[in-house]
Amino acid sequence: MNEQHISGRVTIDLGALRANYKTLAAQAPKAETGAAIKADAYGLGLAPCAEALWGAGCRSFFVARPLEGEALRAILPDASIYVLDGLYTGEAEYYLRHRLIPALISLEEAREWSAKGKGTPCALHVDSGINRVSLSYAQLAALVAEKLPLNVVLLMSHLASSEEPDNQFNGVQLGQFQKARALLPNVRASFANSSAHFLGGEFTFDLTRAGVALYGGNPLPGQPNPMKPVVTLEAKVLQVRDVPRGEATGYNSTWRASRDSKIALLGVGYRDGIPRRMSSVFGGKAEVLLNGQRCAIVGRVSMDMVAVDVTDHPAQRGEWAEFFGPNISLDEAAASAGTISWELLTHLGNRYARHYIS
Ligand SMILES: *Cc1c(COP(=O)(O)O)cnc(C)c1O
Repeated sequence: MNEQHISGRVTIDLGALRANYKTLAAQAPKAETGAAIKADAYGLGLAPCAEALWGAGCRSFFVARPLEGEALRAILPDASIYVLDGLYTGEAEYYLRHRLIPALISLEEAREWSAKGKGTPCALHVDSGINRVSLSYAQLAALVAEKLPLNVVLLMSHLASSEEPDNQFNGVQLGQFQKARALLPNVRASFANSSAHFLGGEFTFDLTRAGVALYGGNPLPGQPNPMKPVVTLEAKVLQVRDVPRGEATGYNSTWRASRDSKIALLGVGYRDGIPRRMSSVFGGKAEVLLNGQRCAIVGRVSMDMVAVDVTDHPAQRGEWAEFFGPNISLDEAAASAGTISWELLTHLGNRYARHYIS
């Protein structure tokens, strides 16, 4: 896409992505560091991110859907690809064809894979307290007792609150996972998402599943971010308007000028993943950076545009404003809209020019 013809751009720093992989790997020195690359690499583009992670040494990847696994297989012929959704009914052939490893979540799936999987690898996903897709401990015990002919290469479980290091539930879940592990002591274990890399060595086991921190999200909310920013989101100034005192901008006139003001209209909106809550009218500190100055987002976020107050900061048509990137962190931007970095990244639309730099 030609930059003259677009009003929003996303820049993805693959060097920072690789550096973040290495930072997480160093944080879990006894484990293999794997990557959660579901949802198009958290919205950042599967192929460039997968290739960069492979280049940084990553060999194990976690997708949500089997179709994501097929797409990844075409990019990385030698990677281990785990499918977190488990095994879809009647789809064993498909998984075999693309050498996908289902993370089995029920006895029924385990029986189906033992019948159709031809001895190829599978993972077992056991619950430790989050109660999402997974086997219960009792079901895992029944599965082990049934002695199904399964080639189990990984036992995994998932934490509910790993970004809260003081949350006692982390230890409760660790205990549950260790109990499950005792049923399959010789199988490799996987427990840690991004934040759990920072909970201590007993959480990282044999293989980790790092996601948001690879893409620049802070795995330690409230503390300095050890990760490098990967994504920069910018929008073009379409127009700068004079808004006289007493007049409003945007739908429902939610922001009214308390003095003679200048408003810059930027060419991104909720279609592009800018949350409607990302406006100072909701009381938060929703801002963009324009010409090195922070400017408040005002009024309603529309489908295709956002208004910012530039009364104190001269701005011109054609200039670019940063929503997040090196100056405004992804986590700060997400928090300003009452959401999380995961959601902000995965909602970026398809109207952006995307630049990959290293
Ligand atoms: C998405 C996901 C991850 C990665 O989580 P982050 O918090 O983004 O690091 C790990 N494991 C499972 C099961 C997931 O669904």
